[in-house]
Amino acid sequence: MAVKEKEAGLGSCVICGRAALLAREGGVLTMIEGPNACRLKDGASICGSCVRRLRVMYPVQYNFDEAKRTVVKKDPLPELSTEEALQANSEVVPFRENLREQYGFRNAVFVVDAMAECKGGFLQPPLVTIFGQVLYGSFYMQDEVTILSNGNEIKATVLMVDSYELRIPVDTTSLKEWTRHTADPGRVVGENGYLCKLVIQEKGIAVNKGDLIVKD
Ligand SMILES: [Zn+2]
Repeated sequence: MAVKEKEAGLGSCVICGRAALLAREGGVLTMIEGPNACRLKDGASICGSCVRRLRVMYPVQYNFDEAKRTVVKKDPLPELSTEEALQANSEVVPFRENLREQYGFRNAVFVVDAMAECKGGFLQPPLVTIFGQVLYGSFYMQDEVTILSNGNEIKATVLMVDSYELRIPVDTTSLKEWTRHTADPGRVVGENGYLCKLVIQEKGIAVNKGDLIVKD
């Protein structure tokens, strides 16, 4: 496949041999964050698809800055050598299967970090923004999920999935704007290893750090 000039490339992927292209800026948002090609510490590159596959073993690491209410992210993949990336690639399938087994073979698991509420509008339940990280699998808008908290299982529908840097809860206005401006909200996805926020509209939701949101 010919590489378009405007797509910046990092050469061939050391794992699969395909072109390691950097995602274009300013295009339609199809993925909340990545998968983007990355350069390894020894100068070799891996393509976006391989980044996506290995991400479950090397999730984005983050710290929350309380004062600025922002997250500081660090990507462990560029720290790998070619040898380590190839090794990870040979281990990723059993790694993922073990993880799925640990969580009862759910299709996707999200780990809660924090939550915040906004008014949901006249006679409507509040909008709840849940910040956290996808452990494995993918979350999409309109997904039916189960919130596991304090021994309770609460069913909910995901109204919005997005990445975040600032921990600002979504209100009804920004939810409407997001839905209007996101070309294809169904393609915006919270994917394994990445931080994301899930927005739901339910009464009496109280989740704590470490609680899980799962998809069957
Ligand atoms: Zn590749």
